[in-house]
Amino acid sequence: MKIVLLGPPGAGKGTQAKMLAKQLQLPHISTGDLLRQNVAQGTELGNQAQDFMNRGALVPDELVSKMLDERFTQPDVKKGFILDGYPRTLNQAKVLDTLLQARNMLIDLVVYLDTSESVIIQRLSGRLACSVCGTNFHTQNMPPKKPMTCDHCQGSLYQRQDDKEETIRKRLEVYRKEFSPLFDYYEARKKLHRIPADGDSKIVLDTIIGLCAKRQDDSVKI
Ligand code: AMP
Repeated sequence: MKIVLLGPPGAGKGTQAKMLAKQLQLPHISTGDLLRQNVAQGTELGNQAQDFMNRGALVPDELVSKMLDERFTQPDVKKGFILDGYPRTLNQAKVLDTLLQARNMLIDLVVYLDTSESVIIQRLSGRLACSVCGTNFHTQNMPPKKPMTCDHCQGSLYQRQDDKEETIRKRLEVYRKEFSPLFDYYEARKKLHRIPADGDSKIVLDTIIGLCAKRQDDSVKI
């Protein structure tokens, strides 16, 4: 099953992708995580991407698409994947189709996590990430047991540079500008499923799992 999660920053794409990956035993591919790894490792790509990320701007398509192409060469992708944070532009959606076609693959499901602006701001401004294992926490919605310490690996938690209020606004602005053509692209191909995502993450997960099961049934009937 090849699943793409779409939605504004703070819609819960990362959270849902991690839970889905565990449940469906598929790799979770997050372009944001891959870019942050490159920044942390000081690679050439990381150095080129860092400034865009800190400003809440999009990293140029060709850099991100090349990085994704490389990720697709790994064997775990053959059984499917959960893609989170890509595509973000119409051009990226077209590139994704090309990358997949070259490997005889097609997207099965595109899920749009529909989230209100007040929930987005609340989620992002309180988000904390583990510097070691990447698990997300939230100062109010999901506080760690010990202040600023990861429950799973004891790594220290930090606020992402791009989760500061000013940058959140910029990221939302970028998102709104790019989103509509992307939405239309998948809607025209009858791949898009829009689900409400302001509420409990378990309910959102169940809805996505239901869509996956239906998609599998439909493809058996075909
Ligand atoms: P995320 O973790 O998905 O919120 O991504 C964090 C940041 O990484 C974004 O604000 C962008 O600067 C960059 N980024 C992640 N994915 C992409 C993408 N598909 N295209 C361009 N920039 C991206």
